[in-house]
Amino acid sequence: MSQPTHCCEALRAACEDEDSPVTFIPKYREYGIRVLDGGTSNVVISFCPWSGDKLPASLRSEWFARLEDLGIDPGVDEIPEEFQTEQWYLGKES
Ligand SMILES: [Zn+2]
Repeated sequence: MSQPTHCCEALRAACEDEDSPVTFIPKYREYGIRVLDGGTSNVVISFCPWSGDKLPASLRSEWFARLEDLGIDPGVDEIPEEFQTEQWYLGKES
């Protein structure tokens, strides 16, 4: 099974470390830095803090657009399984 590839080991490790402020949301392909206000918000980042590589663009708006095309309201309806992970965008490339 394919996985999103992180640009370097430091970023991969940070994304997997729950104590790290760096986050990766697979379903949105979105990298971010946690806002330390006790909530769950992130600031989206475009470049890797370690290697300086440009990170792939967030697919958050595409995620909502694709669900809308399918007639699914994320706030109301059940989200299909492939849209809960990276499978919805990895799958279309294979
Ligand atoms: Zn990197």
